[in-house]
Amino acid sequence: MKLLRDNARTVVLTGAGVSAESGVPTFRGGSDSLWAKFSPEELASIDGFMANPTLVWEWYSWRRKLIGEAQPNPGHEVLAKLEKHLSKFTLVTQNVDNLHQRAGSEQVIELHGNIHKNKCLRCGRPAPESAFATDQIPKCSCGGMIRPDVVWFGELLPEAALNAAIVAAGSAELFMSIGTSALVFPAADLPVIAKRRGAYLVEINLEETRISPHADEVFHAPSGEVLSALWDQIRVDDKSRPNTVVD
Ligand SMILES: [Zn+2]
Repeated sequence: MKLLRDNARTVVLTGAGVSAESGVPTFRGGSDSLWAKFSPEELASIDGFMANPTLVWEWYSWRRKLIGEAQPNPGHEVLAKLEKHLSKFTLVTQNVDNLHQRAGSEQVIELHGNIHKNKCLRCGRPAPESAFATDQIPKCSCGGMIRPDVVWFGELLPEAALNAAIVAAGSAELFMSIGTSALVFPAADLPVIAKRRGAYLVEINLEETRISPHADEVFHAPSGEVLSALWDQIRVDDKSRPNTVVD
């Protein structure tokens, strides 16, 4: 992948596949999970929250615990190193699990929010992550209920994050779509935007997606493996150049 070694404007979009390699379970867990009997809308929509905030908070407490126990995988680590190594690098994620930051990524555009953050339902003010007790929904000083700061079904993506992602995609020379099924819009449009504007499009995903036929290079393999191999290649290339220091 020649462009990855150059000083090219590089944009990476990550999705659930990257988290799955860290053992982060799918939305409600497996079919034996105690949450499987609830619909996604009951657990992650404003209507679901208004109907039963205790249920929603219990579910988020469960997810936060599982996510807190997960560890960043080699794919997260390579992306954190690329941020430091490449001068024009933008990381965009659909994941809410904070694993990119825990791996060392400093600038992360979070399209779907962050499960470790909260905000007030009424005034929107950020609220600290506090222990949830089943008999008590956290409240803001304004009296509004506190909710997780993630994008629920039927909600718009955070405008600033989406705009930043679109601008980055539009000027990308290399765009890497990693571990995303390319089905959730508008994030799924980002590789298309980049490709139309002339970016070299690379897809890393276990399965074929609707992006695959448009990609210049496709890797149907775990992202941790592919990214580790790419990073090794960068190091080899850099060492063969004079006066180049690689950490
Ligand atoms: Zn408030």
